[in-house]
Amino acid sequence: MSFIPKAYRGKTAAILGLGKSGLAVARLLQGKGFKVLVSDKRPRKDVKAALGRLAARVHYEGGGHSAHLRKAAFAVKSPGLPSGAPILAELREAHVPVFSELETALAFCATSDIIAITGTNGKTTTTALCAEIFRAGLPRGRRALMAGNIGTPVSEAVQQAKGKDALVLEVSSYQLEDSRSFHPRAAALLNITTDHVDHHGSMQAYIEAKVKVFNEQREDDFCVFNAEDPLVRKLSRRCHCRRLYFGGKGAYSHAWVEGGKIKVRLPGEKPAAFVPPSLPGAHNLENAMAAVLLGLGWGLKPMAIQKALKSFRGVPHRLEEAGTVRGIRCVNDSKATNVDSTMVALKTFSQKSVLLILGGLHKGSPYNPLQSLIGSVVKGILTIGSAAAKVEDDLSGLAPIFPCGDLKTAFATALDIGAPGDVLLLSPACASFDQFRDFEDRGDQFKALVKAAR
Ligand code: ADP
Repeated sequence: MSFIPKAYRGKTAAILGLGKSGLAVARLLQGKGFKVLVSDKRPRKDVKAALGRLAARVHYEGGGHSAHLRKAAFAVKSPGLPSGAPILAELREAHVPVFSELETALAFCATSDIIAITGTNGKTTTTALCAEIFRAGLPRGRRALMAGNIGTPVSEAVQQAKGKDALVLEVSSYQLEDSRSFHPRAAALLNITTDHVDHHGSMQAYIEAKVKVFNEQREDDFCVFNAEDPLVRKLSRRCHCRRLYFGGKGAYSHAWVEGGKIKVRLPGEKPAAFVPPSLPGAHNLENAMAAVLLGLGWGLKPMAIQKALKSFRGVPHRLEEAGTVRGIRCVNDSKATNVDSTMVALKTFSQKSVLLILGGLHKGSPYNPLQSLIGSVVKGILTIGSAAAKVEDDLSGLAPIFPCGDLKTAFATALDIGAPGDVLLLSPACASFDQFRDFEDRGDQFKALVKAAR
């Protein structure tokens, strides 16, 4: 069953969880003539405050989910609500269908030109670049709107989208898991590594959520896959529309890197070559290849694609150049909230010149996988946050460790011990919530320290 507005208009929609997308879908449904009941675990007064002016037009409850929800005609689940939450079982029992915010929002979308990007890593960067490519390549009068996990909720974007616009969506496994008929015209599955198993309940469930990006695509749609990721390659065999692969040496893929350029060969078309965006790391070449294939597969002109690649400057907090202080290059990679991401960052350096700020809120995985890269490129480790002791245990003996406690102290210590030519890298491999609002706040504070010291 998929969400069909006609079947429910005028009836009660229960919104489970009032995050950013919950609020946006509440607004959308209320505006479309539904009765809306918002339910959140926060105290009722906080729910009211979060609803703002909408509080006067919808019903809401706080402090958990009540039996009223069982009387709703359908429910919309916030992406963050775990699939094992008791309320979902209760609603199933009461025969109340539960839809994703993604699918609910798209039921009201004037355009079917949907491009969806998912994967464990690289979603935001690829989505941002893809949106640039579509902006450059779509004919005049047709816009490319970017939404989803990347900032603007889909429920908000669909209210702006006109019939000829394209919607470039970053979709997470959380948003995909409850979708039943989501069928983007173009999709990309970048990579899959172990992540979010706590939310989905198992790795298999996580994988099945990701597969939903292409599962319902139609014959004339297409999906872009990473040929170098064995799991993605295997899953791609389940895709029944046009498949485009990137990576490797070109023997079995449509886009690959050769001589510093992205080479592309699509069946029946002239080969093309693109200068990649000036972003660090092999991972960003992968993201760029995926975005290029999405553009070319759509039929956009290579010249427009090249223009977008040239002007793309990356996304803040991902290996972002923050400035140079006393000859030390400062790089903000605050988005590295897990060990894999910090590894990706360290791989972009080749000399033992990195002063690495590590730590924050420990997420449970060991830091040992960083050992070999630390041995080869890290001059000193500056620890911060509540994970510091664990970081120090796992990485002792590889590089001098400076326990700093907080970011400000780590920054000052780095300036003391560093020399011109060094790189000060904030790539903490941890969540930020012990000392910061979120990873953006952590990155912004780092950039502010750099700015003040310049
Ligand atoms: P997401 O939105 O999926 O979290 P981002 O584009 O925000 O992805 O990148 C987050 C981090 O993931 C980056 O800082 C980098 O460490 C890592 N990363 C980005 N792209 C890739 C990729 N293609 N493969 C592996 N890791 C990547």
